[in-house]
Amino acid sequence: TKVLLTGGSGFIAGHILEQLLSKNHTVITTVRTEEKAQKLRSAHSSSSSSTNLTVAIVPDIALPHAFDAVVAEHAQDLEVVLHTASPFHYRWTDAQRELIEPALNGTRGILEAIHRDAPSVKRVVITSSFAAILSEERLHDPQTTFTEDSWNPDGVDAVGRSPPTAYRVSKTAAERLAWDFVAQKKPSFDLVTVNPPVVFGPVAHSLASLESINTSNERIVALLKGEWKTRIADTGPVGLWIDVRDAAAAHIRAFEIPEAGGQRLFTVAGRTSNRDVARIVRENFPEYADRLPGPEVPGGEPADEKSTFKYDNQKTYKLLGIEWIPIEKSIVDTVKSLKAYGI
Ligand code: NDP
Repeated sequence: TKVLLTGGSGFIAGHILEQLLSKNHTVITTVRTEEKAQKLRSAHSSSSSSTNLTVAIVPDIALPHAFDAVVAEHAQDLEVVLHTASPFHYRWTDAQRELIEPALNGTRGILEAIHRDAPSVKRVVITSSFAAILSEERLHDPQTTFTEDSWNPDGVDAVGRSPPTAYRVSKTAAERLAWDFVAQKKPSFDLVTVNPPVVFGPVAHSLASLESINTSNERIVALLKGEWKTRIADTGPVGLWIDVRDAAAAHIRAFEIPEAGGQRLFTVAGRTSNRDVARIVRENFPEYADRLPGPEVPGGEPADEKSTFKYDNQKTYKLLGIEWIPIEKSIVDTVKSLKAYGI
């Protein structure tokens, strides 16, 4: 199958790319700079599937028509588009310009380009998030169960509440835009969204440095650097997680399974806590003992069951047929992969 993957330099996309190539799909992926393109090309140059990979440059998905050229050039026989590119970091100063606009314009731009120039596309898969499912008000409500049908009620007007709210709003608005586009324009393709919570796991993409680690693995780098030695950071109210290899596999199952069309895939392996992450690292990597918090160190507790939401993703679990990677393996493999960066 010929597949266009946006944001190929990303943490999740790195695994999607590996899995696509190992299944012998033909892949066109987009990155922002020639430097990142070269890195990807050389990372895959030795594999037998390297002839199946084309890397194209799309410098900024916030610009209107950002995807026009790449879609037009590769439209012939293109069947699947996986749109993963969207800002996931808190380094912005202007949320509207640096977060909301790339999320929304990127989603609109890719959908419009496909609709206009690539009629052979049958399915578009968008990386959304649990951020588009949850409701901040209900995170501490044990009566609430989030499912594939739940929607974050916050709109773009909530951007100023906090940086995490701004990110959640960017994901929610972009996902809504995509479903509305398909409902209104009735394009040749149908839509699937993948809605993961916090994603842990090994880095398959090449990092410039540990400082450029993806946001969801930041806490593991912080732990390994000794930042939790006397107090483990708060877990926060969300606490759901998935391994990156499963999140990536869900994107591929999303186009392999015909009945996935029109579905939101709520990919969750379970609940975790920073305390649990610290314990797993302590038990498996004695060489870091001097930097890690001992069992007596406070903080990072899991959310209290009596004051936290419930979730139900049985529909997704049954549809995908993926046995989720357990937390222990996910964290151990993450730390092993970070070792290569000299931590
Ligand atoms: P990364 O930061 O590694 O990936 C984000 C990707 O988007 C990068 O390739 C980045 O390019 C690209 N990108 C961001 N802004 C722009 C822009 N303005 N123009 C062009 N490209 C841009 O994070 P993840 O892999 O974690 O995120 C991938 C997707 O998964 C995102 O849509 C994110 O919202 C979603 N997600 C992630 C979760 C997680 O816990 N990791 C959980 C739920 C959803 P560059 O590297 O060059 O900046």
